[in-house]
Amino acid sequence: MAFGSGQAATMTLLQALSPGDHVLVATDSYYGTPALLEQVFHPWGLTYTRVHMDDLDAVKQSMHDNTRLVWCETPSNPLLTITDLLTVSRLAHDAGALCVCDNTWATPVLQRPLELNCDIVMHSTSKYLSGHSDVLGGALVFKRDDEFTQRVRSLQSLSGAVPSPFDCWLISRGIKTLGVRMRAQMATAQTVAAFLDGHPSVEKVHYPGLASHPDRALIGQQMNGPGAMLSVQVNGGAAEALTFIGKLKLFTRATSLGGVESLIEHRASVEGPTSSTPANLLRLSIGLEHAEDLIADLAHALR
Ligand SMILES: *Cc1c(COP(=O)(O)O)cnc(C)c1O
Repeated sequence: MAFGSGQAATMTLLQALSPGDHVLVATDSYYGTPALLEQVFHPWGLTYTRVHMDDLDAVKQSMHDNTRLVWCETPSNPLLTITDLLTVSRLAHDAGALCVCDNTWATPVLQRPLELNCDIVMHSTSKYLSGHSDVLGGALVFKRDDEFTQRVRSLQSLSGAVPSPFDCWLISRGIKTLGVRMRAQMATAQTVAAFLDGHPSVEKVHYPGLASHPDRALIGQQMNGPGAMLSVQVNGGAAEALTFIGKLKLFTRATSLGGVESLIEHRASVEGPTSSTPANLLRLSIGLEHAEDLIADLAHALR
């Protein structure tokens, strides 16, 4: 089902639950997902628990009798931790819940959650699927066409959470180059991550393609590659991070991701005072520029 935005897809899926239901949502996830749960669905009667999806005991213990949905996002945002989708979907099913995966960052090129026993895949097609930062869209992909799926479909048309024909055309045009874009952007991201990792002005790099990533084995099992998103913590705090991005010329400072142009953003500023994102963290979406040009820009700004 195609939606007018990623958030419209999430909104409609959550509306298909009932007051009194419980949702498990990843601690490290796209900011808007728990914000919808807190600001819209909590007053409406849904309860939810935020849990580290890589802590499988915590996932198990957070399941209640009324848990209907387990919301995963992997690689996670902005720390790029990896959720074991096969295991989490099994835990969800054991508890009688559906397992959803927000697959926006990985895309179907790198990760196919339905084959890992998830029930529903969610995409913001505003990102890699369209790929040119010029359209908003969302999608839900269901494993089965059952009563729950029909309920989502009906809510989608009742609430008008649909995309325009022109937006659909832009997104389907973008999808034609998704495979080549992902592979090129990922190769550049790997080079950029290797440059940043070990740079004396850098505290930590979060990227699934680095040998130091704690979930290497899992990445090999469930993904076809580490993707083109990475986060970097520079030495210092918010001031140092903001000075660094102020000096960049090639990276555009903007909050989206997945387009042909490289973007960078200071997540904590975007998320506001309730954010738990480290103040020195910057999130990079690597585009289709030459790796040497991106590295020269980063090296200059870090100097
Ligand atoms: C952008 C994004 C969303 C929300 O999508 P919109 O199309 O901006 O509404 C959801 N999840 C992830 C991981 C995203 O990056």
